[in-house]
Amino acid sequence: MSFSALGLADEIVRAVTSEGYTQPTPIQLQAIPAVLGGQDVLAAAQTGTGKTAGFTLPILQKLSSQMIKRPSIGRQPVRALILTPTRELAAQVEESVQTYGKYLKITSTTVFGGVNINPQIQRLRSRIDILVATPGRLLDHVQQRTVDLSQVEILVLDEADRMLDMGFIRDIRRILALLPRQRQNLLFSATFSEEIKSLATGLLHQPVIIEVAQRNATPDLVDQKIYLVDRERKRELLSYLIKTHEWYQTLVFTRTKHGADRLVKQLTQDDIPAVAIHGNKSQAARTRALARFKAGEVQVLVATDIAARGIDITDLRPVINFELPNVPEDYVHRIGRTGRAGIQGEAFSLVCVDELDLLRNIERLIKRSLPKEMLDSFEVDPQIRAEPIPNGRSGSKQPQRGRRNEPDYPPAKSSSSPSHQSKKVIPRENIKENIPKTGNHITNPVTHPIPKQVISRRRGS
Ligand code: AMP
Repeated sequence: MSFSALGLADEIVRAVTSEGYTQPTPIQLQAIPAVLGGQDVLAAAQTGTGKTAGFTLPILQKLSSQMIKRPSIGRQPVRALILTPTRELAAQVEESVQTYGKYLKITSTTVFGGVNINPQIQRLRSRIDILVATPGRLLDHVQQRTVDLSQVEILVLDEADRMLDMGFIRDIRRILALLPRQRQNLLFSATFSEEIKSLATGLLHQPVIIEVAQRNATPDLVDQKIYLVDRERKRELLSYLIKTHEWYQTLVFTRTKHGADRLVKQLTQDDIPAVAIHGNKSQAARTRALARFKAGEVQVLVATDIAARGIDITDLRPVINFELPNVPEDYVHRIGRTGRAGIQGEAFSLVCVDELDLLRNIERLIKRSLPKEMLDSFEVDPQIRAEPIPNGRSGSKQPQRGRRNEPDYPPAKSSSSPSHQSKKVIPRENIKENIPKTGNHITNPVTHPIPKQVISRRRGS
C-alpha cells in the first residue's frame, strides 16, 4: 500500500517521498484513513513506530483541503492543536509538520516553556493553522490572551501517558474546557493506565482503536519464557501448564494446520475445551471459533500464524508457542497478541531439541536471550536427537562428530530449584530421583491466573 493509495494529496506524498519513505508503517496504515474519515482515534504506539506522521499527514491533508474564512483583523484562530509532554517532543513534532507540509500553504509554530515568551507571542499574531504546545506554556498564552483556541478542529494528545506522569492532567482538563465541543480528538499513548482510560472515556467519541507492536522488538509488557521439553512430551506439558495455572483465553500457536487440528483433539481428550482456527477453515467457521473463544466457551484457541493475524482480543493471556515459528519475525507478531493496551502479558514457548536453531534466530532478532526453564518431571532426555523440521528454514541440526547424542541445550533454570541456578542436563538414568513422587510442582509460578469470577465480571461489564 502506498501513501497515495491512502488518499493523501500529491504535495504530501511528494514530501514523504523526499524523506525516503516508500510505504506507510503499520500505524500509518491504520491511523491515516481513520483521521481522514473524521473519526476519533485511540492509539497505543511508542516512539519509533512512525506515529507522528500517522497523525500529522492526515491533519495536513484535512486542513489544506478545507480552507476557512479568517478574520481580517484580530487574533487568528488555531485549527489543530497538538499537545506534547516535553519541549523536545514539541519541537520534534513541529519539525515534522514543517517537513511533511513543505509543499502546502499550512502554517505552524510551537510554544513551550523555559524560553522567552515574547517571540512566541509575536509568531501567534500571524496565521497559525497547527500549534504544537506543552500544556503549561499554552495556558500562559491563554491567560495573556495571546492565543485563540475557540476554533480548534482537531486535538492531538501525543504521549498522553507521559503527560499524566508529569502531572499535566489538570492543565489538560483546563485546556479541553477552552476548545469547541465539536472537534476531532486523537489520543496517542504507549501505555494505558486507569488514568489514561478515564481521560479517553471522557474525551473520545466512538474512537477507532489502533495498537501496533514495535518493529522487531518484543513488547516490553510481555514476560517471556522458554520451557525446554522433549518433542513427544510437549502436549502433556501444555495440558499440565494450562491446568496448573488455570489459564483461560489462552492462544496457542502451531506451525501447521494439521498440527493445530491434532492439538485440539488432544487437548479435548485432556478435558481442556479447545478450538482451531486456520486457513483450511471457512471464514464462517473461523468467525464462530473466535466468537466461542471470546465468549469463554472454549479455553484454548489453537492458531497458525496466518489465521492469527486479524485476531484482536483484549485480556488475552497467555500466548503459548507450542512450536516456534520458522520465521523469527512471526515470533514477534505472535507475542504481540498479548501485553496489549498496557496490560502485562505473558508468552511461553515449548521448545524441543529440533527447534534450538530457531530459538537462536529469534533471540538474535529480538537482541535478547530469553529465560529458559525445565520443569521437574519434564526434564529433557539428552539421548533424543534433533530431527529436521518440515518446511523449516533451520532446526534440522544434525549431531556433530564426537558429540553424539548431546544436544546443545542452552542453560535452563529448574522450577524446583529455589536458587534458580543454571542446571546441567542430567543423564536420563539419574533423572528419576529428581522427580517428585507426587506429580509436578511449580514452586515459582510465573503467572497470576485470572480468577474465574474476575473473568465473568469483566465479561458482564
Ligand atoms: P515516530 O515514531 O513518529 O517518532 O517516527 C520514528 C521515525 O520513523 C522518524 O525518524 C520518522 O522519520 C521515521 N518514519 C516515519 N514514517 C516512516 C515511513 N513510512 N517510512 C520510513 N520511515 C518513517
